[in-house]
Amino acid sequence: MIQFVSVDSMISLIKKRGVGDLTIQIARAIEDDFKRWDDFDKQPRIATHSALGVIELMPTSDAETYGFKYVNGHPSNFSLGKQTVTGFGVLADVETGYPFFMAEMTILTAIRTAAMSALAAKYLARDSSKVMAMIGTGCQAEFQAHAFKALMGITDLRIYDLDDAAMDKFERNMEGQGFTITRCADTPGAVKRADIITTCTADKKNAKILTENMVGQGIHINAIGGDCPGKTELEKSILLKSDIFVEYAEQTWIEGEIQQLNKDHSITEIWRVFDGQSDGRQSEGQITVFDSVGFAIEDFSALRAIYAMTKDTDFTENLDLLALPDDPKDLFGLTR
Ligand code: NAD
Repeated sequence: MIQFVSVDSMISLIKKRGVGDLTIQIARAIEDDFKRWDDFDKQPRIATHSALGVIELMPTSDAETYGFKYVNGHPSNFSLGKQTVTGFGVLADVETGYPFFMAEMTILTAIRTAAMSALAAKYLARDSSKVMAMIGTGCQAEFQAHAFKALMGITDLRIYDLDDAAMDKFERNMEGQGFTITRCADTPGAVKRADIITTCTADKKNAKILTENMVGQGIHINAIGGDCPGKTELEKSILLKSDIFVEYAEQTWIEGEIQQLNKDHSITEIWRVFDGQSDGRQSEGQITVFDSVGFAIEDFSALRAIYAMTKDTDFTENLDLLALPDDPKDLFGLTR
């Protein structure tokens, strides 16, 4: 039997612990795992692209535990009334190869992405940051906002989305949660007076959600929507005047904003900043970009954090996923 956390259980867990607390726990797990970077077997995710989207497997492993996530990204799903991103993840015992934990990861991915964004911002944004602009208020947006509140104390949000209904939804969901939300008419209006800009849009093209003239000194950009080959959000000239931080360089060169740059451009893997080997922000005027694409270790960390919280509790159910005959050589006997 393997323990399984369903969508229903994940929702119950979030209701019980609060999205802020859960995000903090997952951010801690990510930070701890990124600090032991060399313990992990790493590879860029395995992506199968189609005309309308991508289906990906994201594996990683340390000496004891193997993990992977199945996830898709289909921006046009919205027009079919479907989610852009859905996923599930598995942990397995390296010694035997037996999986022991499985969880829904559509909601968990949003929490881990937000945890990673806010964790990076803690090291990269100005300490005095108070206002965040959010461009794109789709599925990830509320989780991002809660993470920045929980980890950085940011409650002043300036939002813009092409779709009015997405902003209506965001305002509705965030009502009474301790945020001050300013709804803006366009992106330039939203980024005015912002200390941090989160770009969280979904379009399978090289978009220019932010152009150079919108980015002032001292800004931290949390760019999460550009995460596929040919799918970016920032004008190249922004990257040229910024210090750029990434999760796993080998993967980000394929999928991130930096696919627009020459391979010899200087970038820093964020684990080095967490570990104290590299500097994060060094001056008030510096422009920093966290070029987030989502990396397997974040999913591994999120899964192990949720496993630790839910193991042998009512939040899990047993899945009869492994065929385990009493005589290990008699698999056929099970069918008789
Ligand atoms: P979503 O489709 O729910 O929301 C995207 C929103 O962006 C929509 O409301 C859309 O109207 C808006 N938008 C599109 N173009 C815009 C523009 N030019 N200006 C303003 N708004 C615009 O998608 P989501 O689940 O919120 O995901 C957002 C993006 O984040 C996707 O590209 C997804 O692939 C990416 N993502 C990244 C990570 C990561 O780890 N980096 C994790 C999850 C999702």
